[in-house]
Amino acid sequence: MQLLFADQLGPHFDLGGEILLPEVLGQFSKRRYHRQKAHLILYALRSRALDPGVHVVSVDSYRDLDTSCVTQAISPTSRPMLAFAQSRGIALEAPRGFCSSRLDWERSRGKGYLLETFYRNQRRRLQLLMDGAEPEGGQWNFDHENRKPPPKGGLGLPHFEVLENDVDVAVRATLDELERTGRASFIGIDAPRKFAGTREEALSALDHFITHQLPLFGPYEDAVHDQEWVLAHSMLSAPMNLGLLDPLEVVRAAEEAYVRGDAPIESVEGFVRQIIGWRDYVWHLYWDFDEQYLDLNELNAQVDLPTWIQELQSSDVESRCLSHTIDAVSKNAWAHHIQRLMILGNFGLQRGLNPRQLNEWFIDAFVDGTPWVMPANVIGMSLYADGGRMSTKPYAAGGSYINKMTNLCGGCAFDPKVRVGPNACPMTAGYWNFLDRNETKLRGNPRMNQVFAGLRKLSDRAELVEQERNRKSF
Ligand SMILES: Cc1cc2nc3c(=O)[nH]c(=O)nc-3n(C[C@H](O)[C@H](O)[C@H](O)COP(=O)(O)OP(=O)(O)OC[C@H]3O[C@@H](n4cnc5c(N)ncnc54)[C@H](O)[C@@H]3O)c2cc1C
Ligand code: SF4
Repeated sequence: MQLLFADQLGPHFDLGGEILLPEVLGQFSKRRYHRQKAHLILYALRSRALDPGVHVVSVDSYRDLDTSCVTQAISPTSRPMLAFAQSRGIALEAPRGFCSSRLDWERSRGKGYLLETFYRNQRRRLQLLMDGAEPEGGQWNFDHENRKPPPKGGLGLPHFEVLENDVDVAVRATLDELERTGRASFIGIDAPRKFAGTREEALSALDHFITHQLPLFGPYEDAVHDQEWVLAHSMLSAPMNLGLLDPLEVVRAAEEAYVRGDAPIESVEGFVRQIIGWRDYVWHLYWDFDEQYLDLNELNAQVDLPTWIQELQSSDVESRCLSHTIDAVSKNAWAHHIQRLMILGNFGLQRGLNPRQLNEWFIDAFVDGTPWVMPANVIGMSLYADGGRMSTKPYAAGGSYINKMTNLCGGCAFDPKVRVGPNACPMTAGYWNFLDRNETKLRGNPRMNQVFAGLRKLSDRAELVEQERNRKSF
């Protein structure tokens, strides 16, 4: 019998034969998950359990699972689960659910950890968006055509929607009962499920994205609009991370849309890059960087997560970029990449939030959060806690970036251009304060020369640092 893990739910994980699928409700007692994340996991698992040949067993923890009938499994996606499977002597097949094997990674990544080298080699190896040996469209990267600010009225694109069913009703009852009896406590609000949790739903979500959103994905991938929470994003990370969609079928569908002339190269290339590039890249980094990576703290960031982040209390923050993002996470258990990196991550970097705490929070609060996806995104990319093992400089930005890429500053109590005074923007002041605090550590980095030259020219530097030292709220 095959042991199936809860993120291996699609057909590409099926080895043929009977399947043992554990439902481990005890996991919801150990951590404070977002309610909608817990719902999606349980919904996906119980829906898969309806297939013939799948035997569900309910246990409180993996330790209690009887694996005497299990002969095989596909390698799980985290170190603790791998250790569990190995301790039970289960024969493990190589991991699936990504576009490259470990050997492909070794061969494609080049000498360092440069995403661009790996990505181009992936394109060549998979012959994806290639015209012989040359990239389709004559260049590897269309960034200069992308990165547009949001149009005033938003994009007006329909996003994928789910129709709840009887399984959702049962899941909701289970989660209510866990809460009522004190066996679990969730963050975020309960709401109708938004993300695909079955193979059929995942295929519809993919089709919806390719038809309606992919053409505008590239130009607006970095934009934030206060009236549209999805914009042209695919909402496919959750079904891909649950194993319901094979990422290769996702990128091939995007390539086909390009070949048909239904989507422009800048959008299709931008989307393909996210999946065969970034997604596979952070997966391999999880295995390259060991468990100690989670304890790295190059910038000595020791501030505990504020309650408004932990509990998703958007009304406790005045800064519109922060309150809007926290509100989105509370309502949807999701926010798009720029909200995660340039608003939440940037805030964490500026204010010295503890890297391990922020890493764990992202895993619990986001519907697509997993142990493998987070370290490179949070410890590395967002917080620079690894001292630059995966990015050449910190992703720090002030209010002017947020003002350019969002429509949030207009309605904010603060002014993105002001750094000192009652209406000083916490993101702008936070940016300069971050540079001031870390000048000694970072000034050796040639990519930071220009910003440190700017810092040294600030006439109000001492006043700004004092203001931020005393800041109690955002
Ligand atoms: C701080 C932080 C936390 C993140 N947490 C998660 C997470 O919990 N789970 C997750 O899957 N992604 C995570 N990401 C990456 C990215 O933000 C999400 O994959 C994306 O926002 C999901 O929405 P989408 O499916 O609509 O993506 P789209 O914008 O439509 O992008 C397409 C796909 O590209 C992949 N992708 C793009 N960037 C990344 C990346 N940096 N790492 C991994 N995959 C990527 C995802 O599979 C995504 O579905 C995180 C990024 C940051 C900076
Ligand atoms: S003014 Fe500053 S705090 Fe307000 S939304 Fe803009 S960047 Fe955020």
